[in-house]
Amino acid sequence: MGKQSEAFFQRAQEVLPGGVNSPVRAFRGVGGSPLFIEMAQGSRIFDVDNLQYIDCVGSWGPMILGHGHRYVVEAVKKAATRGFSFGAPTIGEVELAEMIIAAFPSMEMLRLVNSGTEATMSALRLARAATGRSVVVKFDGGYHGHVDSLLVKAGSGGATFNVPDSAGVPKEVTELTISIPYNDLEAVGAVMSKDVAAIIVEPVAGNMGCVPPAEGFLQGLREICDKFGALLIFDEVMTGFRVSYNGAQSLYGVRPDITTLGKVIGGGMPIGAYGAPRELMQLVSPLGPMYQAGTLSGNPIAVAAGRATLSVLKNSSIYNDLEERSSEFETGVTSAAEKHNVPIVVNRVGSMWTIFFTDAPVTDFESADKSNREKFARFFHLMLAEGVYLPPSQLEAAFFSAAHAKKDILQLIERVDRVLKKIAWEFEK
Ligand SMILES: *Cc1c(COP(=O)(O)O)cnc(C)c1O
Repeated sequence: MGKQSEAFFQRAQEVLPGGVNSPVRAFRGVGGSPLFIEMAQGSRIFDVDNLQYIDCVGSWGPMILGHGHRYVVEAVKKAATRGFSFGAPTIGEVELAEMIIAAFPSMEMLRLVNSGTEATMSALRLARAATGRSVVVKFDGGYHGHVDSLLVKAGSGGATFNVPDSAGVPKEVTELTISIPYNDLEAVGAVMSKDVAAIIVEPVAGNMGCVPPAEGFLQGLREICDKFGALLIFDEVMTGFRVSYNGAQSLYGVRPDITTLGKVIGGGMPIGAYGAPRELMQLVSPLGPMYQAGTLSGNPIAVAAGRATLSVLKNSSIYNDLEERSSEFETGVTSAAEKHNVPIVVNRVGSMWTIFFTDAPVTDFESADKSNREKFARFFHLMLAEGVYLPPSQLEAAFFSAAHAKKDILQLIERVDRVLKKIAWEFEK
């Protein structure tokens, strides 16, 4: 670890809990102290000690074009000269909404908010307003932001630090949340009733590491929701404009009632959105009785970054390239692991992936959590020393961007190979 990062981290811990503004960043999932970042460009991130890394975090998902994409930077600069925030409508918001709705036919209207958390919080409120019911079903290891009622067996930081249920959330609130294993339709059937307002799901789970939906799982959720008159919420904060331009709902051919978005739609600026058919969105204030508001919602600079990002994504072969390179990476890593006899499982959907240190398929939180975290931590730090910045937790997804060129992928495979060789030797002793 560099000297400057160490020093900054000491200083940060005096004024920020754990020295960070979001828990997983603190590196407690792998030990050691976090890198303080100076800047990033393309596929590379640079820390305050002037060390360079291939970035496989991508700000946890938003940076699908890579860092500092020229077109996005220009859009943001231009927007900044016109004013930072007005608290009044702008045409940019309408254009971003039109672009998103064109890509997601399940939505006819949407509301922009400032984060993924706000989007899921509002989506639950909408589902409850529409159905007059209170209970929400979610999945173990599913993370939907730090919404009170969704911090039940939650993924991401909750899973990383073994605090899936947060302190400070009244049990009266969490009693309304049922959490069951991912990919388990039988479990869903067993807990469904006419009290359930909605099932909320990551259509590709990303916050317990990357876990794809089993064949028929999402279709099954659609059918069960219809049978019980509950709403199906796809939390596409991570998957929207990531696994395809049209989200996981198009990839798997299942239409949710409500969709939440975030991350990529802001291109790295703070944003979120929730949307649904007109009939549902008409319940939202000022059209209807469900209240939801935001001083900075639809912020013109965030919207400019989002529009620029989506327009680059739309007019390109980026998703094909991402698939090709990510698949090459997967193949390379898998054969390196076989060569060195290190048991791993690589889960991947498009440019979203996780290397689990386990020998059994990872299909839900329980199987993800069987991974050897000690081995992962060693892998993480050896990769860091090789100049590769991975998510500092076994239970998080990594990402490639359009800026990860073929030669980056080849370099990555080479480095993984060297590191796995070392791990095989160390853990065999
Ligand atoms: C990141 C994420 C969120 C939360 O978004 P924030 O912008 O961090 O509040 C919600 N749901 C999913 C699936 C996410 O990946």
